[in-house]
Amino acid sequence: MLECHKDEMHFMANYTLLYIETVTSSYCDLTQFILVVGLKVSMNFMLSYILMCDRTVCVCASVSSLACSPGIHVGFITHQRTPELQRYFCRMSIINIVAREILDSRGNPTVEVDLQTAKGLFRAAVPSGASTGIYEALELRDGDKTRYKGKGQRLLRRCEDAALCSTSLVVEQEKLDNLMIEMDGTENKSKFGANAILGVSLAICKAGAAEKGVPLYRHIADLAGNTELVLPVPAFNVINGGSHAGNKLAMQEFMVLPVGAESFRDALRVGAELYQTLRGVIKEKYGQDATNVGDEGGFAPNILENSEALELLKTAIEKAGFTDKVVIGMDVAASEFFIEGKYDLDFKSPPNAARHISGQELADIYQGFVNNYPVVSIEDPFDQDDWPAWSQFTASVGIQVVGDDLTVTNPRRIERALEEKACNCLLLKVNQIGSVTESIKACKLAQENGWGVMVSHRSGETEDTFIADLVVGLCTGQIKTGAPCRSERLAKYNQLMRWLLLRT
Ligand SMILES: [Mg+2]
Repeated sequence: MLECHKDEMHFMANYTLLYIETVTSSYCDLTQFILVVGLKVSMNFMLSYILMCDRTVCVCASVSSLACSPGIHVGFITHQRTPELQRYFCRMSIINIVAREILDSRGNPTVEVDLQTAKGLFRAAVPSGASTGIYEALELRDGDKTRYKGKGQRLLRRCEDAALCSTSLVVEQEKLDNLMIEMDGTENKSKFGANAILGVSLAICKAGAAEKGVPLYRHIADLAGNTELVLPVPAFNVINGGSHAGNKLAMQEFMVLPVGAESFRDALRVGAELYQTLRGVIKEKYGQDATNVGDEGGFAPNILENSEALELLKTAIEKAGFTDKVVIGMDVAASEFFIEGKYDLDFKSPPNAARHISGQELADIYQGFVNNYPVVSIEDPFDQDDWPAWSQFTASVGIQVVGDDLTVTNPRRIERALEEKACNCLLLKVNQIGSVTESIKACKLAQENGWGVMVSHRSGETEDTFIADLVVGLCTGQIKTGAPCRSERLAKYNQLMRWLLLRT
């Protein structure tokens, strides 16, 4: 793996350029060499070096010695020398990047990235959706049916090498993201995989914040050009259906939004109390079995009628005494039940074309919801390519209409939705587009055109809390990250609570 000329090597440590004549490549000798030149390798202390060969390749080495594991780790990469690299005699912030396979909240493999700089180690994990829009960037998987049913992530392309070889610093998010995107070179990131690129991109962002010595949300605000910070209204997905639950319910998410809460902390309390009240309402009506939860922590009673889910919410809101504080949002995810130009609201049952309804009939059902319940936001009311139905509905309904599968956090799709006036709010999912920089651009594009923006988790989540900082830095004012239940969901809400505590 190591490919370097061992003579005339430049050695930089702690920003000081030293010149040496010979360095051997063995780990042992390198350790001794470090000790010989008087640099300490001690417990809980991480040394970072850059070795730059003066011939044809660049070698990056990291040496660490941890309290629990006093072994020495040395990682090398090689890189063809460029004019830019020749001029480069300052610190290279990224020392090492390691991508690994971990499991998400559904027990499926996903990507985790460890990125090391002189400031420490920064870890990011990538979420994964179940109901994915067909225009999303590609989530690359191994396809090896002998493990994880083909969903393994061992064969990730080496996009981390692209970032590692760059001369850019971790605070230069756009440069590093663009480098990976260019090296991938495909429209939908299918060479490296959007999941691999995003893992590195998220880790770079966290490292960038540490490099500047500011919280992550502040760094994201800087990247987006925002001076203000805004805490979001949470949208708690308390009843799960669609592809996220094993019940008959076709529509995917029924959410409660505590818009009348005094603060984020109060909103979280309202959401949690309402969730517990809803549990009692469902148990009383359908029995204990009906209080099992779906992928995002919401209850998944085996009901068929979507209006029945709204009725349950209405009852719980009244019973909990929150009628003046809470409104309702929905994610229909209609692409999941769009069949040959029509919609099947019983799509989990055996097929029967007789029950399919038109886009207009579906719009009439939504209008009924808006008339009878405090529904203020509907996401993906129609299929991702049923543009006329979207435009007609948005023009007539007078509530927030959110594009998710329609827009897939992709500026091109957002541009078209703007032209066709198809919706008035963007659902922002970092893994739909595959990098922090592109996510910020998509958000800005929507905001500049007067849309709302709701930052979102995925149904397959991890303990990573990046989106909690993202929503604050991007000042979108709305976040949906599941029910106040299941730790991978609460991790994000709790991170927002921590941010509050730091401020008070
Ligand atoms: Mg959605």
